[in-house]
Amino acid sequence: MNVAELMVKIVVSVSPDVVFSTVVLLMREKNCSCILVSENEKPKGIVTERDVVRFFAKILLPDKVANPYFKDVPVGEVMTPEPVCVQETTSLYDALMLSRSRSLRHLLVVDENESLAGLVTQTDMVNAYVRLMERQTELESANQALRQLSHEDSLMKIGNRRAMEVDLNFTEASAKRYKTSYAVALIDVDLFKKYNDHYGHQAGDDALKAIAGAIKSIMRKADRLYRYGGEELLLLLPDTRGKNAMVAAERARKAVEEIQLPHVESPLNQLTISIGVASEHKEGWQALVARADKALYQAKQSGRNRVCEEA
Ligand code: GH3
Ligand code: MG
Ligand code: MG
Repeated sequence: MNVAELMVKIVVSVSPDVVFSTVVLLMREKNCSCILVSENEKPKGIVTERDVVRFFAKILLPDKVANPYFKDVPVGEVMTPEPVCVQETTSLYDALMLSRSRSLRHLLVVDENESLAGLVTQTDMVNAYVRLMERQTELESANQALRQLSHEDSLMKIGNRRAMEVDLNFTEASAKRYKTSYAVALIDVDLFKKYNDHYGHQAGDDALKAIAGAIKSIMRKADRLYRYGGEELLLLLPDTRGKNAMVAAERARKAVEEIQLPHVESPLNQLTISIGVASEHKEGWQALVARADKALYQAKQSGRNRVCEEA
C-alpha cells in the first residue's frame, strides 16, 4: 500500500502573504488541522495547530510586549518552512517510519512534477497499518510487520539503520526540492574491540549508550543521529555544508572526549571517536556516505580522536 491510497486530495492552501488571522479562521471554518502555504502550486510551508500554538505562546510570553498587529502577520512568518514531502508512490511503511522518527503529524504528497497531490496524516497511516496487521492472520507475520516498523535502536535509543535510510532518501529529495545542502558525519568508536576485550561486552554496551547520549546532548534540534551499524553512528546534518559540518562534528568528538570513559588499552587512555565528514552532494546519499567513510579512514590513519573532511 502506498500513500496515494491514503492521502486527502483536497488540501486547503493559501499564499505566504495571507495574514495569520485569516488562516486561523480558515482552519476553524474548514475544521482542518493544517493549512498548506504554496506558491505556483509548489509547497512552501505548512501551518499546523502546533505552529498556531507556538505563535500564540510567543505573543503571550511575559517578557514580550503583546503586539496588537499580530493578527496581520503574514502566514509566511508563522508557517514551518520547507515541509517534508513524499512521493505518491512512497510506501506506507516508509512514510509511517518517517513521520514517527521525525515526529511529523502531516506529510505532503507531491507528484512526479513536484506539484502538490495531497496530504496524509500520521493518524490515517497508523490506522491503515493497524488494519493491515489485523488482516495478517498468522501471529508470526504480524510480529514481522511490527518489527519492520521499529525505527529505534534499543541499545542506543537513537534511530536504527532502516530509519536512517528512509531519512536519507527523504533528506536527499528535500535538498533537491528546496535547493539546500546537507552533510553527513560518520562516527566510529576508536579501538572498541580492545575496549570490549578488556572491560567486557556489557561495559562495551554501556559505553555505546553513554557515547550516543553525549552526542545527542550537543546536537542542534534539526540534526539526527542514527546507528549505522556496530560501533558506528551517522550524524545527519540538514542545511549544512563545509566548515559548519566540520564544526558540528568537532562538537560531537569533544562531547565524547569530555565524558572521559577510561580505556587503558588506548594510547589516549580514554574512549574516543573518529569522524569522517562529507557534504555538497551531487550524487545520491550512498555516494556521500562513501565519501564520509573515506574521510573516516583518514581520521583513523592520522591518529584517531579527530575529524577529517573528504579530500
Ligand atoms: P578502530 O579504531 O580502527 O575502529 O578499531 P576498532 O577496534 O573499534 O574496530 P573493529 O571494527 O575491529 O572493532 C569494532 C568492535 O565493536 C568489535 C565489535 O565487537 C564491537 N561492537 C560492535 N557492536 C557492538 C555492541 O553493540 N556492543 C558491544 N559491546 N560491542 C560492539
Ligand atoms: Mg568500525
Ligand atoms: Mg572502531
